Amino acid sequence: MFVQIVKRLLVLMVPASILGAACILIPQIADMSTGRQELFQVTPYLIAALGIFLSVHFHRGRPFMVLLLLVVFYWSSRHYLVGRPLEYSLNEIYQAFVLLIPVNIALIAIMRERGVLSPAGRLRFLFLGIQVLIAFWFFRYNFISSLHVLAANLGLPVFMTPQQFPPLALYTGCGAFLLTAVLAVRRQTPVDAGMLGALFAFFVSCNWITSPNVHTAFSSAGALILTLGVLRDSYNMAFRDDMTNLPSRRSLNESLSGLGRRYAIAMLDVDHFKKFNDTYGHDVGDQVLKMVAYKMMDVGSGGKAFRYGGEEFTILFPGRRAADVIPELEKIRKSIADYRLALRSVERPKNGTNVKAQRGTKGEAPHVSVTISIGVAERGESPATPEEVMKAADKALYKAKNRGRNQVCG
Ligand code: GH3
Ligand code: MG
Ligand code: MG
Repeated sequence: MFVQIVKRLLVLMVPASILGAACILIPQIADMSTGRQELFQVTPYLIAALGIFLSVHFHRGRPFMVLLLLVVFYWSSRHYLVGRPLEYSLNEIYQAFVLLIPVNIALIAIMRERGVLSPAGRLRFLFLGIQVLIAFWFFRYNFISSLHVLAANLGLPVFMTPQQFPPLALYTGCGAFLLTAVLAVRRQTPVDAGMLGALFAFFVSCNWITSPNVHTAFSSAGALILTLGVLRDSYNMAFRDDMTNLPSRRSLNESLSGLGRRYAIAMLDVDHFKKFNDTYGHDVGDQVLKMVAYKMMDVGSGGKAFRYGGEEFTILFPGRRAADVIPELEKIRKSIADYRLALRSVERPKNGTNVKAQRGTKGEAPHVSVTISIGVAERGESPATPEEVMKAADKALYKAKNRGRNQVCG
């Protein structure tokens, strides 16, 4: 359980490192030459421009919108806010940003990816545009009369009042942050982790808006976190299987070339899966594949699982012999065979099919189960190359199928 939580938090490593690097950089900025300082002030624009270019190129509408918001924030705050002797909580531009940007980042984080210039993508820009108009009207004409709420203490203990953040924005910001954090940890994608990192960077640059260097460093950090998120996401597209979230065949081919002198390879195949699909439909089939992949993700003995293709999977065990990994493979086989997938009524099979669908004890939803067959082979005198070992594992898999399926053969 603890290991799984730590694994799920790993996706936040890159954003956290960039935020840490920004903290380290800040004291050095004052010692930079004038030329470098001038360059430093435009880095948020340069990085955001790169991120926007990549977002358009890879059809990523969500980071595109957040980067746009960050650029608008950076430009406006440098012109109207940064380093000025203002009472920030009484300033309408500051209030508009601290209230609306975190809420918008959280809303964009909730949305599903629909591209940049697709009809859905354009509708989202319209939403942002309308919001700007409403915000302009509200903060221009109703700001003073709303100050009793916007700048009020709202029950916040004094020791919790940050440098600049007005309490209302602190509450909405915390809500937005929590929501974005849950999505980042659940979805495990670099862009969702990037949204969380960018939101955190925004909070820092807003709260320390009196220090121009902190503001610029964290604006750059936010843009960089999202830009890297887009890059890593597109890398994952090529090397990770979208449905099961396992590394793909392409990634397997790369890993094969890095194996040492001793290793074992297992090939896994779902039994009678064609019949399963025909009976329950492709969607239930997909759910089963996700479950099977999930069971393989935490394989022990240093194994790494890949989706080979269709309903076939491969596990590489560097430094192991076949005999060492058979207990681990048995564990996976049994755990999948014991798993019961509940069916919703729309998914129940037509009469006359012979795939196992059991009605549970009274009142329980019907459920299905699947089994897998596994073949395993190791490197030796022969087979000696990864391709030959995979062929031998495939042969062992067919032996398992011929012997009645739901078993491991070496
Ligand atoms: P065996 O026990 O011999 O492996 O029988 P099988 O039916 O599993 O073998 P076969 O290789 O003929 O069938 C594989 C089926 O897997 C065919 C296809 O319908 C299904 N399949 C492949 N990829 C996917 C996928 O991504 N989703 C779903 N739902 N089904 C898939
Ligand atoms: Mg197959
Ligand atoms: Mg099969």
